[in-house]
Amino acid sequence: MNIIFGPINSRRFGRSLGIDLSPNKKQCNFDCLYCELSPNKTVDKYSDIISAEDILSELKDSLNKYKNIDAITITANGEPTLYPYLDELIDNINLIKGDIKTLILTNSSTIYNKNIQQSLKKLDTVKLSLDCIDAKCLKKLDRAFKSITIDDIKKGLLEFKNIYSGNLVIEILLVETINDKKEHIKALNEFLLQLLPTRIDIGSVDRPPAYPISAINYDKLRDISLLFDSSLPIYIASRKNITATPSNYNNNEILATLFKRPLTDDDVEILFDENTKNRLKILLKDDKIKKVDSNGVFFYKI
Ligand code: SF4
Repeated sequence: MNIIFGPINSRRFGRSLGIDLSPNKKQCNFDCLYCELSPNKTVDKYSDIISAEDILSELKDSLNKYKNIDAITITANGEPTLYPYLDELIDNINLIKGDIKTLILTNSSTIYNKNIQQSLKKLDTVKLSLDCIDAKCLKKLDRAFKSITIDDIKKGLLEFKNIYSGNLVIEILLVETINDKKEHIKALNEFLLQLLPTRIDIGSVDRPPAYPISAINYDKLRDISLLFDSSLPIYIASRKNITATPSNYNNNEILATLFKRPLTDDDVEILFDENTKNRLKILLKDDKIKKVDSNGVFFYKI
């Protein structure tokens, strides 16, 4: 069975091994328009279940085979928190992982569940999707299983934030005309100011989606990022269709740009020409700005 995949090298997490909790078929309580897997009927539980022993045995083999692993990422062809032995699995991973960091990618649908909160609490990073802030959008974009409500998701996220001391990363996937409008971003912004996650990744469709929808390019994502409060650590994760060309900014312009929103190294590469990058370095050296780590992504900020 292809339960373990990788190692994958990523700038953010280093050398990572992935665990697919649903390797045989898609099992998800969402049917997102942008899903890179085939469209599917939503389910509220797994019917195809692999044993925690099989997963651990494959994981141990991979950890023996591949040295210098930095992270173990729990994911699925679908929603990993629907896996019935998740708690037992996380406990056992924690027993064998040593210094390796752990991460889960979830669609947030089960975060209201106290048992899931207790399980996820034992991981170093929990990355939760939050594309929608209202019921209409959840139905239209994420096409959630009928019993899932946006109020439960919001309440669950706030409860989880209160009990979790690791890195809580929010991922927002924006789709043209569906969840990219000003009122949508305003509502997301208000909620995120309450939640105060470690980082917020915004992106759009990068791979062929399950349904015909339109992606948002980097330039528009950057405009959208400016609609969020400047205190929120927004990382633009999609780098497709960039039309912006690196420009020359003087010191005041650099500071004014950082005042509006902190920039990552990727943003700096896209927006600043070589002279501006040198000015940025000097501002950093002179303590006019700082560079802070937000769970593997560095931000320049005032
Ligand atoms: S939550 Fe993930 S796996 Fe499930 S439909 Fe959405 S994108 Fe696909």
